[in-house]
Formats: sequence, structure tokens, C-alpha cells
Amino acid sequence: MRDTWPLLDKIPFPAIARGQLQTLQVNVGYRCNQSCVHCHVNAGPNRTEEMDGATVDLVIDFLERRRIATLDITGGAPELNPHFRRLVTAARDRAVKVMDRHNLTIQEQPGQGDLANFLAANQVEVVASMPCYLQDNVDKQRGKGVYDGSIRALKRLNALGYGREGSGLTLNLVYNPLGPALPPPQAELEADYKRVLGERFGVRFNSLFTLANMPIQRFGAILLSQGQFDSYLTRLQHAHRAENLDGVMCRSLLSVDYRGYVYDCDFNQMLDLPLSRGARERLHLRDLFDDDISNNPIRVAGHCFGCTAGQGSSCGGALKEAAE
Ligand code: SF4
Ligand code: SF4
Repeated sequence: MRDTWPLLDKIPFPAIARGQLQTLQVNVGYRCNQSCVHCHVNAGPNRTEEMDGATVDLVIDFLERRRIATLDITGGAPELNPHFRRLVTAARDRAVKVMDRHNLTIQEQPGQGDLANFLAANQVEVVASMPCYLQDNVDKQRGKGVYDGSIRALKRLNALGYGREGSGLTLNLVYNPLGPALPPPQAELEADYKRVLGERFGVRFNSLFTLANMPIQRFGAILLSQGQFDSYLTRLQHAHRAENLDGVMCRSLLSVDYRGYVYDCDFNQMLDLPLSRGARERLHLRDLFDDDISNNPIRVAGHCFGCTAGQGSSCGGALKEAAE
């Protein structure tokens, strides 16, 4: 797979610095039951990287010590990590809000039959990828049968109260374009999703987050092989809006890899651009128990235009609409 970093590194991006830490985003491993075309993690069934029990313990201690408001668990399919449920319950016991970056079809994998019940019992916010409301587009990007499995999983979550007003169980969906295009306006697309999924399947959800595809890892390699890397980067750069710089997720989020090393965001983790501090080029979570990293410079490069182009993209979807 060709690496886009040498090209991204040459593209300047405005300097930005970290704000107050609110969210710990923990990548508990790169194994996944799917191998989606756009995956910025290059996750799949054959990946073996996985957070071990000692590092999970460290994450739990860090949540408590630094009074972190939100734990955002990602992967791969994070539920495949054997410590996933222990991490969730430990965070909830400490009144930390927990988000699960959930691919829906994982619910039908061996040993995951009660996963939806577990998530509901712990009031975990589910953030589920659903790149389209149409079967063809989903199966093309995520694999054959993924659309039907996703609809079954959404119905299961709905039956437990997810997506219903007043239930306290939040279900958000994530859209990303199929190719090298910017996402359409978030509010309009959300209305279309709600109409189509509601009319066809009775599925309901809270919000739709629209994200641009990042020109890294598997998607980046596809751009290179199809000769579309330069035009996609130019499109992102032309659509850059300076006002989006205030809302990018790296201001308030710290990304942790399966070994416990820290990054400004998950994309930097995948590019192996660790958070650096002074002369220290790579920090571990254990180094930050007593260190306030506010104002630390964020490691930026060409890929960051994926966060600031158009309406902007963050873990919570479009920045423009999030601000309204
Ligand atoms: S995009 Fe998500 S579901 Fe698809 S391979 Fe990557 S981690 Fe797995
Ligand atoms: S990719 Fe986005 S979140 Fe990551 S450092 Fe760049 S602007 Fe921040």
C-alpha cells in the first residue's frame, strides 16, 4: 500500500495549539470484522494489534486522575478487544460519558449476541458508520451484506430505546462520501436519512455526522493509484475555512494507541505523528498524568485540510452546524 505521508508533509497548514483536554479517544486495536475501502485505520480481520490489560488499566487510572469527561473508544471494531467491556464499565463507574465507534455488523459476530444490551445497560453513546441510506453504496464501500446487517443492528438498538427521544440512549450515524468529494450539507442529508430509513425500515436515530475522507492509509493509497491524490488535496485546500480551525477535534481530544502512546488525533496516530513536547518526540499516556498539555502545538500537515474543508469535519460531524 503506497504511503501518502511524504506528499502530505510538504503541504503547509496554519499553526494551531491544543486547548483544554476533554475527550480521551482510545484506539483499542486495529482488528475489524470488515475491511472498508475508505478505512483510515487500514483495519481488517487479519490485524493483530490490540491494547493489553495493563494499558487498559492505565487508561482507567488516567480517566480518574485527569477527570476526563468523555471516553471515545475506537478501533478497528473496538468490541473485539477482550477488555472492551471492562473499560466501558470502569469508565461508567467513574461517571465518564462513553462513546463507542461501532460498525453495526459486529453485533452479529460470534460472542457479540448481547452487545446491544450491554451498550444500552451502560448508556453508551453509539456512533455508527452508515455511509449511505442506499444498499448499493454501502455494500460497495463496506462489503457485501453490510447494509442488511447494519439495518438489523439498527433495529436491535432501536428496540432497546436507542434513538428515541427521552430514552437517554443516543444513536448517531456517520456519513462519509464514497469517493474524493466533500460531504453534502449535514442538515439536509440528515433529513434524507431520517426519511428513507424511517419509511423503509422504521429505523430512527438522533443525528447524522458528515465527515470528509482523509487522504491517508487505504483511502490515500486508492487516491494515489487512481491519480486523484493531487486533485483531492487541491479540492480540500480550496474549500478550507479559517473559522473551522477553532473547532477541530485535536484542540480538546487526546488520541491513545493500543500501546498507550499519544497523538493529537486518530489520523495522526495512523500517520505515526506522535504528540511531541519540547525535546520529547514521543509521549506515553503515563507521561501525562501530571502534565497539562494545553497550548502544546498540534502536529499539522496537508491531511488537516480534511478537517477544515467546507463545513468542516470532526468526531462530532460538521463543525459549521455543530457551532449553530
Ligand atoms: S471503517 Fe470501521 S468498520 Fe470499516 S474496516 Fe475500518 S474500522 Fe472496520
Ligand atoms: S487531522 Fe484534524 S484533528 Fe488531526 S491534527 Fe489535523 S486538524 Fe487536528
